[in-house]
Amino acid sequence: MSAKVHEVPKRPGGDKRGSAAARRARKFWMLSTWGDGEKCPCVHCEAMLSFETVEADRIVPGGPYARWNVQPSCRACNVARSDNADWVGPLATALLGE
Ligand SMILES: [Zn+2]
Repeated sequence: MSAKVHEVPKRPGGDKRGSAAARRARKFWMLSTWGDGEKCPCVHCEAMLSFETVEADRIVPGGPYARWNVQPSCRACNVARSDNADWVGPLATALLGE
C-alpha cells in the first residue's frame, strides 16, 4: 500500500505560520493560556484581545511558531516590535518606571 504524496504549494517567501487550521488552533491556545479562552491581554501593553485581534508574537524573532515561542500581542505592538527581540513594550516600560 502506497500513499500518494501531495505537494502543498508554498507562498512566495514561505509561510512559517502554518495552515489556517494551525493558526486558528494557536489563537485559541493563546486565548486560553493567557486569558479565559475568549479574551487575553497583549503581553506588551495589556490591551484586551479577542480571536479576531490576537496575533502570535514570536519570542525569538524569526524562530518557529511553536508554542514555546509565541505570546499574544496586539497588532500595534507586534508591528512595533517587528524582529527586534530587545524591544521594550509599554507595559515593561511602565514596570521599569521609565
Ligand atoms: Zn500591545
